[in-house]
Amino acid sequence: MSIIDDLKTELASISNLAHAVEVLCWDRDTYMPEGGARQRASAISELAAFTHARATSDAFGTLVAGAQREADSLAEDSVDFLIVRMSAYDYERLKKLPNAFVAESSEAHSLAQSAWVDAKGKSDFAAFAPHLEKNLQISRRTVEYYGYVDQPYDALLGQFEPKMLTKDVQKLFDQVRPVVVDLVRKISQRPPVDRSPLFRNFDEGAQERFAVEAITRFGYDFRRGRIDRTVHPFEVSFGRDDCRITTKYNVNDLPSALLGTIHECGHAMYEQNIGEDIRNTGIDNGCSNSVHESQSRLWENLVGRSESFWRRMYPSLQAQFPGVLDDVSLDWFVRAINTVQPSLIRIESDEVTYNLHIILRFELEQDLLMDRINVKDAPEAWNAKMQEYLGITPPSDAEGVLQDVHWAMGGMGYFPTYSLGNFLSVQLYDTALEQEPAIGRDIAQGEYGSLFNWLERNLWRYGRRYFPQETIVRATGRPLETGPYIAYLQRKFGALYGL
Ligand code: ZN
Repeated sequence: MSIIDDLKTELASISNLAHAVEVLCWDRDTYMPEGGARQRASAISELAAFTHARATSDAFGTLVAGAQREADSLAEDSVDFLIVRMSAYDYERLKKLPNAFVAESSEAHSLAQSAWVDAKGKSDFAAFAPHLEKNLQISRRTVEYYGYVDQPYDALLGQFEPKMLTKDVQKLFDQVRPVVVDLVRKISQRPPVDRSPLFRNFDEGAQERFAVEAITRFGYDFRRGRIDRTVHPFEVSFGRDDCRITTKYNVNDLPSALLGTIHECGHAMYEQNIGEDIRNTGIDNGCSNSVHESQSRLWENLVGRSESFWRRMYPSLQAQFPGVLDDVSLDWFVRAINTVQPSLIRIESDEVTYNLHIILRFELEQDLLMDRINVKDAPEAWNAKMQEYLGITPPSDAEGVLQDVHWAMGGMGYFPTYSLGNFLSVQLYDTALEQEPAIGRDIAQGEYGSLFNWLERNLWRYGRRYFPQETIVRATGRPLETGPYIAYLQRKFGALYGL
């Protein structure tokens, strides 16, 4: 046995532990009774700390160092070389966090998450504020432990987007923001689209049947996946053979669960199609948050909101809800699900205003981290930015500062990756269409195999073999850029609104 083989054996063990933590989290967010929160937080924290100790032990460090020496003689694109390279990167990062700190933060985040569900239900920010304060302290200590070169926020961002800096994000956002603001202004001067048909009565069972039909056609494998219900929809994978989706149905809101399910399916198909050859090696998951989000967004927006998708699928949708959409033409329906209108809730916002929701959070969490605003003033700061960017003020904190789970779960630094994912989704899709012109024609005929295969071949199979920027260049020939995304928004919404 070589040292690399020993390392791989240990990585498989660590993967198994991580698997168990994920299952506990999935259950907490779907079926666990409310009363179980404290004991579950304790169990997750214990197991997370145990896993962390294993992955940062001196013995593991020695193994990584030995494997690195062996890997010197391997080709730089061989799987073993890449496994060793990423293990060394992970090890160097993870060992910066003391074990006791990992346990403390995991428990704090779990408790904060339960408190957040409650506080959001009652729109009671004061009840959540102490948890946010605690989480911010943890974030600041995380920054200290990781260290940074340019800005403290880099350390938090780096947890979700390796090697990306705050100033890089800022640069991309500065390119997109004026375009979005201009589009929103022009669209607001056009006659509004009547979206009311989307909010009629849609039987939940039929909503689920249609969503299952759509994602089965896309290629989501139900033998290695399932759909459950939750408060805040998410996708989770316990390795490539069990990638689950969660959804929240609302009988009076068709797009929410439908596009939400397609979104989570995009995440899940990525995980289901990570190469068999890197199973349980620690690199058998998505490359980064933004790359992951590019997959959910690609299926949700570029496929699920496209005219060609609905041209084929709209009759099936109508058939699922007898009588409900008979008076709504395909053209009307497509305009309705693509309506641009400033709104309160990020996850329900349209493609254009979505990025303003992200920019707001990106700025606000930097202000909180740097103590430029106090936790108690967060709702007011939130509302002021909503007014400035979107021209609306949330009537309650449940629809404002409390709407997202991220600050409860310790996800500070996470939000920007959503917009980066939007930008990347178009860059990837444009590349796919360029290399495989049949994709457009196939989708119009209800065939998704050519798109699925392109993504599997150029992105999915690689998992986390490469760092995000390397992955993006390998798939599209260029680093992440906003040009394709901006052109897409202008093309699509220019046509829809006759601008
Ligand atoms: Zn997502």
